[in-house]
Amino acid sequence: MVISPRIKGFICITAHPDGCRENVRRQMEYVEKNGRTENGPKNVLIIGASTGYGLASRIALAFGSGANTLGIMFEKNATATRTATPGYYNTAAFEEFAKEKGLYAETINGDAFSVECKEQTIRKIREDLGKVDMVIYSLAAPRRTTPDGTTYTSVLKPVGEPFTNLSWNAKDNSLTTVTLEPANEEEVAATVKVMGGEDWSDWIDALHDADVLSEHAVTVAYSYIGPELTYPIYKEGTIGMAKKNLKECSDRINEKYQDAGIRSYVSVNKAVVTQASAAIPVVPLYFMILYKVMKAKNLHEGCIEQMDRLFRQKLTGTHAEQDAEGFIRMDDWELREDVQAEVMEAWNKITETELSEIADVDGYWEDFYHMFGFKFDNVDYDRDVPLV
Ligand code: NAD
Repeated sequence: MVISPRIKGFICITAHPDGCRENVRRQMEYVEKNGRTENGPKNVLIIGASTGYGLASRIALAFGSGANTLGIMFEKNATATRTATPGYYNTAAFEEFAKEKGLYAETINGDAFSVECKEQTIRKIREDLGKVDMVIYSLAAPRRTTPDGTTYTSVLKPVGEPFTNLSWNAKDNSLTTVTLEPANEEEVAATVKVMGGEDWSDWIDALHDADVLSEHAVTVAYSYIGPELTYPIYKEGTIGMAKKNLKECSDRINEKYQDAGIRSYVSVNKAVVTQASAAIPVVPLYFMILYKVMKAKNLHEGCIEQMDRLFRQKLTGTHAEQDAEGFIRMDDWELREDVQAEVMEAWNKITETELSEIADVDGYWEDFYHMFGFKFDNVDYDRDVPLV
């Protein structure tokens, strides 16, 4: 099949294996250019390892500190008529590159929320690695089925009051004013169940009880705060409630495993285009303006630049650079006063200015297509690709 992009709403339902491979290769190249670090972790479990921040963490640690990596993902292989999901292709490429360099790289494709997946992971660690010294929790999921069989679905809604703001329509590049109705209590609770820290804590308990965590193991999960402009839909919305719970769970992991020397962190990352973030209303418009401002200031970072900086500078060996509340702040440049002042200035003139003048619309689309393996200038998109 000659594979071309087929966009539906905020995702692309096709993915290109050669382009996904190129995406991984470029990330690997970025990390390798920065050289090897000596004090990084050696055996790492990455939960949510196939796209976005989880994939970038895996690449940064494998090629930056020579780490063996075991990844967990929830991806689909190709069928006779459908391409695989990008995470599937990314992972195949990652494993190939890592193995070429003599690194252990294995992946479990399953539902990370399930007990079975946790048990399978523990068996694999025991057999192949003995113990892990770092656990990265980078899941972004729409739903979670808990061990008692209940399925919870997360929502992206404000809490308490409706939220009205401008939003960008990917279909025709138009701007519309959207009003988002607030979530009810049940929706807030369900979002916390899916995107909060309960499952992360369950993972750490299971790994600790099975004695597959090294002494002084480190675990890190990812969060986002963003500017006041998006507070109603992010920080103070349903997803923000889940992220608040994530930090509380992190604090509880630290208390519970203090004697075992396990350290837990939440890293607040920068806004980047991923499958998860493209789904949030209002936020993509902010991203495009932010991209423009940060690129002009030479401060722009994607997933790999963020994760490379995290593991080279902010979370290394026994060192963790934390703010007063205990967060690691990878959004330090995004939230810099001068950056946000320019973003707000642009936001306030959106309606009377041509969008491409104040927002990096092309940059957004470039990242979007790259996520699915499209629009790389060195990939042959006319090639007839065998799907299975
Ligand atoms: P993403 O959609 O690119 O990645 C999600 C990962 O989770 C994929 O590897 C996917 O396979 C895996 N996954 C989903 N459901 C699963 C399941 N049931 N079992 C196993 N694996 C499953 O998302 P992302 O944007 O990289 O988000 C990762 C984390 O980073 C999230 O916690 C998100 O809130 C956070 N974060 C994202 C941004 C951003 O701008 N994208 C900013 C800050 C923090």
